Amino acid sequence: MNGTDNQNNSDNRRKIPRPMLYYYGIAILIIILFNWLIVPWFFSMQVQTTTYFEFINSIEAGEVTKVHITDTEINYVRKENGKTCVCKTGIVDNPSLPQMLQEKGIDYGAEIPEKPNMLLSILLTYGVPVLIFFLIGRKINKTMANRMGAAGLNIYGGGSAKVYTPDSDKKSFEDVAGQDEAKESLVEIIDYLNNPKKYEEIGAKCPKGVLLVGPPGTGKTLMAKAVAGEANVPFFSISGSEFVEMFVGRGAARVRELFEQANKKAPCIVFIDEIDTIGKKRDSGFGSHDEREQTLNQLLTEMDGFEGNKGVVILAATNRPNVLDPALLRPGRFDRQVRLELPDLMGREAILEVHLKKIKRKADIDVNLIARMTAGASGAQLANIVNEAALRAVRSGKDRVTTSDLAESVEVIIAGAEKKNAILSKEEKRIVAYHEIGHALVAAKQTGAAPVQKITIVPRTSGALGYTMQVDESEKVLYSKKDAYQRLEVLCGGRAAEEIVFDMITTGASNDIEKATELAKNMVTRYGMSETFGMMALETGGNAYLGEAGHYNCSPETARLVDEEVRDIIAKAYEGAKGILSENRSKMDELAEYLIDKETISGQEFMDILEGRKN
Ligand code: ADP
Ligand code: MG
Ligand code: ZN
Repeated sequence: MNGTDNQNNSDNRRKIPRPMLYYYGIAILIIILFNWLIVPWFFSMQVQTTTYFEFINSIEAGEVTKVHITDTEINYVRKENGKTCVCKTGIVDNPSLPQMLQEKGIDYGAEIPEKPNMLLSILLTYGVPVLIFFLIGRKINKTMANRMGAAGLNIYGGGSAKVYTPDSDKKSFEDVAGQDEAKESLVEIIDYLNNPKKYEEIGAKCPKGVLLVGPPGTGKTLMAKAVAGEANVPFFSISGSEFVEMFVGRGAARVRELFEQANKKAPCIVFIDEIDTIGKKRDSGFGSHDEREQTLNQLLTEMDGFEGNKGVVILAATNRPNVLDPALLRPGRFDRQVRLELPDLMGREAILEVHLKKIKRKADIDVNLIARMTAGASGAQLANIVNEAALRAVRSGKDRVTTSDLAESVEVIIAGAEKKNAILSKEEKRIVAYHEIGHALVAAKQTGAAPVQKITIVPRTSGALGYTMQVDESEKVLYSKKDAYQRLEVLCGGRAAEEIVFDMITTGASNDIEKATELAKNMVTRYGMSETFGMMALETGGNAYLGEAGHYNCSPETARLVDEEVRDIIAKAYEGAKGILSENRSKMDELAEYLIDKETISGQEFMDILEGRKN
């Protein structure tokens, strides 16, 4: 299960937003076309083309006031019933024309302005493009404002910031299942916002900032909304990534305005989601991040600026507390951290119940089973599983969600949807079956209990060829060295089975190898389970929430020894797995045959075959 679904893509935050570029491009194109085509056309419409005969007639009638003769044409101004119009006609070899003009007293050298109406021409060449720019600009602002609507703030062109009113989407603590410790620490904040007097009298100051920390999807955003809902105060919400993305060049100003608004509405809550986008350690990384630093500095200043008893509480959420600038975390700013953890078995049951309440479902749903199948899933994933189950029920024409819908959607969410048309060759199918049975058999022999909920060799879109769904009967917090070693043996079981049965090894074990290596390395460098080093921390850093790797914290020679020990531990586990499988070769064959035949085997069937209860 990877936990990075919620990471911000903060790479391109300093570029001009793409739609804006399009708008500018289109605007410039329109103006060029306008000046090339429309304006000349418009003026040519103004100049009336007449015949030479008409021209002469007009002169006779005394209507012509000015004439300008060029090499190719004659331009003249004609006054007719008080209306002036500019006309042109062709050149005809007519020597008597000058004399005729003189007789009528017409000024024939007069330059006739090419653009007859100065005002109109200015309007056309400059006014219209400016108007177009203006309209497009308004459209951009509107789009931006719409996008900002979610954050409840109006950014472009004045106007006051809108307050996110919790009424529309009101959340309460009931909507957040589990997370009892977190709720407990937030109750005080809610109480303070409801009766600040009580605290003022004693002289107690409310914490200014509370940082919600936890892996993606654990309900940080949800929790912040619930606090606002419980306290029933205005809630200003903005996401850190929006600060840098939308407010190019305006980050610091926006922070100031946000706090001005908040101060006016106190008591209230300001929520900054994904604060790590602006709150990263200053001076870390390459290149300058002036914009972000200014925004962060402004935020720090604002947090110092208002007095403790103003009644503005700042909540912020992040899944990367380790990258935050220390200045943000010092007392007087985000001095309180509330941790949200991935839910345990009971937590998962509670979350499933919350989300199942919103859909129509059969009364006898085995929530416990689903919760046990989803060890390690976040609240967001569980919500998704329930929704997926509801969709599945609709698709199959049912009017209620059943346990099997939920179980199926667990697989979809966790292992990717079943790939209908991926065909494994017969030989591949055998290898995959033995590989998966290898894992399960090692696990079963270690504990003597059903190690799996289900094994399947139906390929998944995630790319996994086979898939073993493990069931943890009880959730463990502490693992002994023996547990860790047994886990390694299970991880090695797949590859070991391949080697025993087919006397060859395949690429199918790469994921197992990765996991085994990480575990063995942690045993040596973090858990103090190494014979050579004992209780010595050899690796530091890394973000446990996002599964980032740390770095060696020792001399290169020691690092080499660590690598050697990791190799030895894995090699020992591999031999152990091979031993278990060799001893149970006939059972392994029996189980694999069954799996190849049925493609799916349940934990119960697995144990029946293993203990000889079947056939
Ligand atoms: P985060 O901000 O920590 O990444 P969110 O608050 O956005 O996670 O959670 C996403 C969704 O997951 C929520 O809208 C909710 O439906 C579900 N969820 C997460 N945690 C819980 C929980 N403890 N109880 C109920 N639903 C939860
Ligand atoms: Mg969130
Ligand atoms: Zn495997």
